[in-house]
Amino acid sequence: MIDHSAAQDIQVSMTESRTPRPVRYFVRDDDIGALTPAVTTFVEAFVARGIPVSYQIIPARLSAECADYLLAVERDHPGLIEFGQHGLTHQMMRGAKQLKREFGPEKSLDEQTADIAEGLRLLRARLGQDRDISLFTPPQHKFDRNTLLAAAAAGHRVFSAACYPTPHHRLAYALGRRLGLSSIRHHGISYHGLDRPEARLREISIAIAVDNGRAITCKSGDIPAALARAAARTDTVGLMFHHAVYADAPQELAAIVQRLAEIPPARFHRLGDLAEG
Ligand SMILES: [Zn+2]
Repeated sequence: MIDHSAAQDIQVSMTESRTPRPVRYFVRDDDIGALTPAVTTFVEAFVARGIPVSYQIIPARLSAECADYLLAVERDHPGLIEFGQHGLTHQMMRGAKQLKREFGPEKSLDEQTADIAEGLRLLRARLGQDRDISLFTPPQHKFDRNTLLAAAAAGHRVFSAACYPTPHHRLAYALGRRLGLSSIRHHGISYHGLDRPEARLREISIAIAVDNGRAITCKSGDIPAALARAAARTDTVGLMFHHAVYADAPQELAAIVQRLAEIPPARFHRLGDLAEG
């Protein structure tokens, strides 16, 4: 005998697969610290187009001047700006060696917990003691299980790293998840769009690195194809920027923002809002 509720479930899931949810987009800009012309140019370019941006702040580098500027932008355009914690110092020294990451298996849970708590303390000192900062982005997207535990213990509810749609990344994530790994050494296993199994954190990660922190890696002409590739894999597509990269390329930044402005504005959301939706 056919179980009608099961049959209904199948029908619902088939319907859903025929009419997927419209793709939602978010923009994340990393490495906010000092107030530079690159910061203001970037912020103004996105505000002018009405595209919200989630700014990831390096607490130990955030100047009072930059904090005041961001707070003023927030007062004028409250729906277009959001602040997240981007580590504490964005670097890690081990002996005399500087590593290209801040978190990973080199640091204990206690060390990571202390660093994230200190970062939050600095952010609140600059942005307001009662400010809700619930979004954590690990520098260089490097982390391990303890980073997730420490971020959740500090009160974060959203975790943002990378979830690239390339075949080799997807294979690594799938394999890591099957093995129950949080990371392979400091390389994170993504649970984009889902709650992390390690702690109470919803992961909303970027799919497109428009730059890699040093150079533009996805020029304006390549943006439509990159968006389409990402949208084929997820209905929540994030783009990562580092504003400093566009200091010498303001025209390319304008061209990229123009491409994004071709997407209906209602499809863009703040990263934190996507985690709740
Ligand atoms: Zn960074």
